Amino acid sequence: MEDWPRDYRMGDPLTEIEESLSDQFEKTDLVNSPRGTFSVFSEALVHSSYAKVLVFDTEELEWPNLAILRKDLEGAWKLESFKFQCTSCFGYGSNPTGEPCVSCDLTGWGICPDP
Ligand SMILES: [Zn+2]
Repeated sequence: MEDWPRDYRMGDPLTEIEESLSDQFEKTDLVNSPRGTFSVFSEALVHSSYAKVLVFDTEELEWPNLAILRKDLEGAWKLESFKFQCTSCFGYGSNPTGEPCVSCDLTGWGICPDP
């Protein structure tokens, strides 16, 4: 994560981290930039072919980011998704009255790509 782009603009080339990304990785996740560095990790929840890790910015330890990694055919772990906790519903997926959160599309993470 130390090579994660600090100020990514859509369309910029991805040289440092491209090899670590899976084919399914959405480049919109790259706008998730840290104020400090993404270097505080939870224990990984590992299933056979994928793993989930909470990643924290050293300057924003109260806001988790969810990294999902998937093992490719050669057995290498590739980053498939990296999303910040939704700032509208705070990860719940719905607002306090139970209405679905349209910012994150009920997932609690990132921004819905097609609201
Ligand atoms: Zn939400």
